[in-house]
Amino acid sequence: MSNDILVKAVEVTKNFGSFRALDAASLEVKKGEVCCIIGPSGSGKSTFLRCINLLERMDGGAIWVNGELIGYRRDGDHLHEISDAEISRQRRRIGMVFQRFNLFPHMTALENIIEGPVQVLNEPMAEARDRAMALLDRVGLADKAGHYPSELSGGQQQRVAIARALGMRPDLILFDEPTSALDPELVQEVLDVMKDLASSGMTMIVVTHELGFARNVANTVAFMEAGKMEEVGPASQVLSMPKSTRTAEFIKAVH
Ligand code: ADP
Ligand code: MG
Repeated sequence: MSNDILVKAVEVTKNFGSFRALDAASLEVKKGEVCCIIGPSGSGKSTFLRCINLLERMDGGAIWVNGELIGYRRDGDHLHEISDAEISRQRRRIGMVFQRFNLFPHMTALENIIEGPVQVLNEPMAEARDRAMALLDRVGLADKAGHYPSELSGGQQQRVAIARALGMRPDLILFDEPTSALDPELVQEVLDVMKDLASSGMTMIVVTHELGFARNVANTVAFMEAGKMEEVGPASQVLSMPKSTRTAEFIKAVH
C-alpha cells in the first residue's frame, strides 16, 4: 500500500439483522488530508465511521489505518479477530468527535483532556496538564480550564471534545456531524477550530452537512447513499460538478 494513504477501506459491508447498512463501501484518505462524507440520513455515514474505530464490527471487507489491518489479524488466508486489548490499542490512535458532546460531566474541561493521556498513555500528570493547557489554548478556551461541561456552551463543549481527542495524539480524527446539535451561532467557532486543525496537517474524516466547510477545507468529498459510496472525488469536483445525478440532487436539496 502506498505509504501516503492513512485510511484505506475496501468494500466494507455491515448488516444489522437483514438490513445492509454498509454495502461494499470503499474509501481512501491520504495522510494530512480532509475527507468530508455527505449524504442523506440513514445512508450509513455514522456506521462507516464506527467501523473505522471499531465501535462496530464490519461483516465484510477490510480497513487499514496507517498500513495496519483494523480489527483483524491475517494469518495466511485466514482472518482472526484480535483481542480486546489489541482493539483498544488500535482505537487509541483514532480520535472521535460525536454530534452530542460526550465529555465526562463530572470532570472539568482540563480534567476531561488529562484523563486519557494519564490513564491510557501513562503520561506523567504534570506533563499531561501542561499539554492539556496548551490544547485548551489552541481551541481558544484557556480561560475555561476549570469549568464543568454544564457551564460551557455547546460550541465550547465541542471545542473541548476536539482538544480531548488531540490529547491522545491520534493519527486520525473522525468527526460525526460535530456541529449538527449546535445552535446556529455556535457552529462557526467549531468549524474554525476544525479548519485550524486541518491546516496543521491532521488527517480528518468529517461527516457533515456543512457544504461550505467541505468546499473550503476538504480535499476530497464522498457522497454516500444506501450504504454505498455513490461518488468520491476532489471536493470542488463533487460539490460543483458531480457526476452522479443522485449527488447533484442531494447537494441542491441541502443548499
Ligand atoms: P447516517 O449516519 O448516514 O444517518 P447510520 O450509519 O446511522 O446513518 O445508519 C444507517 C442505517 O443503519 C440506518 O437505517 C439505521 O437505522 C441503521 N442502523 C444503524 N445502527 C443500527 C443498529 N445498531 N441497529 C440496527 N440498525 C442500525
Ligand atoms: Mg449519522
